[in-house]
Amino acid sequence: ADVPVPAVAGRALRVPLVTGGSTEYANLDHAASAPCLDSVREAVDELLPWYASVHRGAGLASQVCTRVYEGARQVLRDFVGARRTDSVVFTRNTTDALNLLARALPRGTSVVVPETEHHAALLPWSGPRVRRIAAPASPADAVAALDAALAECPEGPRLAVISGASNVTGELWPVAELARVARRHGARTVLDAAQLAPHRPVRMTELDVDHVALSGHKLYAPFGAGALVGRADWLNAAEPHLAGGGATRRVTERAVSWTTGPERHEAGSPNTVGVHALAEACRTLGARWADVVAHEEALLRRLRAGLRGVPGLRELCLFDADHERVGVVSFTVDGQDPGLLAAALSAEHGIGVRDGLFCAHLATRRLLSRAGSGAERALRASIGLGTTAEHVDRLVSALRTLVAEGPAWRYEQVDGRWVP
Ligand code: PMP
Repeated sequence: ADVPVPAVAGRALRVPLVTGGSTEYANLDHAASAPCLDSVREAVDELLPWYASVHRGAGLASQVCTRVYEGARQVLRDFVGARRTDSVVFTRNTTDALNLLARALPRGTSVVVPETEHHAALLPWSGPRVRRIAAPASPADAVAALDAALAECPEGPRLAVISGASNVTGELWPVAELARVARRHGARTVLDAAQLAPHRPVRMTELDVDHVALSGHKLYAPFGAGALVGRADWLNAAEPHLAGGGATRRVTERAVSWTTGPERHEAGSPNTVGVHALAEACRTLGARWADVVAHEEALLRRLRAGLRGVPGLRELCLFDADHERVGVVSFTVDGQDPGLLAAALSAEHGIGVRDGLFCAHLATRRLLSRAGSGAERALRASIGLGTTAEHVDRLVSALRTLVAEGPAWRYEQVDGRWVP
């Protein structure tokens, strides 16, 4: 936990407690959105005086913004180890990127997707050629299930949806093995890297995946910028994601011809500041992977060891407790309402966790039942560069206190949420 890591904003943020006084905020919800890196904030500050239109202006500030925006494509390509020829389309986030790909699939494409995916990767695909794979019990099971599902697909283009790391359990999926099976069946692959990219290097060429989607706000950059990186042919043949300026080659009274390349799907003035921030986050993480991984692994070990000592705590696992994972842990505590625990952790201890089904309803319900928990929701603690050993220890000790003594304050339910 003593590894020096890139600094993030809000590290010493103080929050008031209902029990009196204040404490340093312990943000244990990195999996939802990670705090902004200091290097990203500095890069944004540097760009803001040059804020001007991209692509369209002749002035120097426009040229600077255009260079920054276009230069970010190569930074993203390097960050995910893409092929030189892969396109980088800037999107709002992973959800946007996967919906873009879903709308660009050639007619008649069969899609195979595990039911355990985050809704962003589960729901964009529709039609009779979508097959959902049941939650696997092991990585080998996941590979065998994909193999069997692809073998049953009719002739024509195929796409296998693969998750990098689960947003419920943090467990890593066997991406390279899944991609190998997909390739054997002539299927393309798309990797949902929203939860993997902030924690581990993604190497598209080594993994042999065709498309990768990610979100800046999970990668220590602000909200509003993400990317779809990968093969360009389907995208160049598809209808533009949005119709409008910047995506057109020529417009006449009777017809429109659209550009090819990433601009085809980026109509409208782009989020230059967000893209610059995303690229800076990629540069910072890409230069510090060894420290980032060491920091997280130490804190994750500490967190899981501490949680194991909380009476009645059940950790959710997709594969098994020893499977490699990033810093995300979901759990329930026997006899405790997860929503009430989350509310008390925030109000009485200054700890931010998440409770619910984490936009992965099928996965979380399945894992709750596998864990033998009677709960209908779970709690999730997720760590990253803003996490300290004190945050982890505070969570464990607060949970022990809440389980032994109950909350110090009284809470009532308002619109389904507990409030002090
Ligand atoms: N996939 C996974 C695994 C995620 O964790 C998330 C965000 N929780 C998404 C996709 C969607 O990301 P966004 O909300 O940024 O579109």
